[in-house]
Amino acid sequence: MIYLDHAATTRVAPEVLEAMLPWLQADYGNPGALYQSGVKARNALRTARESVAALMHAHPEEIYFTSGGTEADNWALTATAEAFAAKGRHIITSRIEHHAVLHTCAWLERRGYEIMYLKPDRDGLIAPEEVERAIRPDTILISVMLANNEVGTIQPIAQIGALARAKGILLHTDAVGAFGQIPVDVEALQADLLSVSAHKLHGPKGVGCLYIRNGVRIGALLQGGAQERNRRAGTENVPGIVGFGVAAECAGKRLQESETVVQLREHMIQRLLAEIPQSHINGHRDRRLPGNIHISFDGIEAESLLIRLDMDGICASAGSACTSGSLEPSHVLLAMGQSATEARSSIRLTLGADNTPEEIDAAADAIGKHVLLLRQMRANKPGLS
Ligand SMILES: *Cc1c(COP(=O)(O)O)cnc(C)c1O
Repeated sequence: MIYLDHAATTRVAPEVLEAMLPWLQADYGNPGALYQSGVKARNALRTARESVAALMHAHPEEIYFTSGGTEADNWALTATAEAFAAKGRHIITSRIEHHAVLHTCAWLERRGYEIMYLKPDRDGLIAPEEVERAIRPDTILISVMLANNEVGTIQPIAQIGALARAKGILLHTDAVGAFGQIPVDVEALQADLLSVSAHKLHGPKGVGCLYIRNGVRIGALLQGGAQERNRRAGTENVPGIVGFGVAAECAGKRLQESETVVQLREHMIQRLLAEIPQSHINGHRDRRLPGNIHISFDGIEAESLLIRLDMDGICASAGSACTSGSLEPSHVLLAMGQSATEARSSIRLTLGADNTPEEIDAAADAIGKHVLLLRQMRANKPGLS
């Protein structure tokens, strides 16, 4: 199998699995307990919190573990909306957010909040000037993702953060696609809230965190015990959190190797563009996640291509995992100004540090072959438009 869908999820790293196993077996103590095994689990949580905090230059007490990126996004938006309703009910976001943000915004709209959905340019970039123009006296939150999970475009969050800070508006950024792929620094970004998920950086599924800057007064997500400083009740997912911590440590070391992934990406992009006529890259050419290739092949249905690649053992996707399997064109590509037909003709290949040059060449060969075959089949059926 050639796995080129690292934006959907990643393989648990061997170091991560090894670190998790004791907490699923012998070391099952509740981190809230007073005896030895409880203390041991509590210490393990502390170490993991420090590792995750270090990778985003946060203080450990600003990290609140959640069940993943979706939960962190829901919490950031709903709790801010609730806490600041007296100040205003206006929220600024973008049309290219993950559904964890967009569907939470729709939920808030049904409860009387007003959401401004900014449109990106053709490269998927949100202009800070557009954000500035959208700010109103009753704006309580700006939520723009750090990097788009479909087309890989990295947003100018530091500039947007500076605008938000100057106006006293909170900034949330969904960093799930970026964390572990590019350097993330909550100070440089001036982010007040930031969402992350372990399974996108070779950690386990079902664990993530919300960074909440010290002093940001938003309420708890769950009511119950005193876990996560009274803000997210429930016995902690110790094995998952330990795995997340180790994944963050490994990702920190791998950041130095991201140039290798960029080289693989550039090699593949050059081959695909040179060997397949009428192909185009989507997303910003330079401001892009190291492993992301999003490419259109005119006249091709992405679904047919992906089925053929799957038969060759190649895992790729048509955009976000949540919408693949349906014929809905990507909301991100539509927002970037593509037609539904254009949007349906592209695939996403997301590379990881474990991909080899041989795999990349084999995948490029297969894609070239199948695009050619699909275009020939189409040409032989003149009734098709
Ligand atoms: C994967 C992803 C999420 C959801 O994270 P889960 O941990 O799978 O819930 C949210 N936002 C972005 C940008 C993602 O890529």
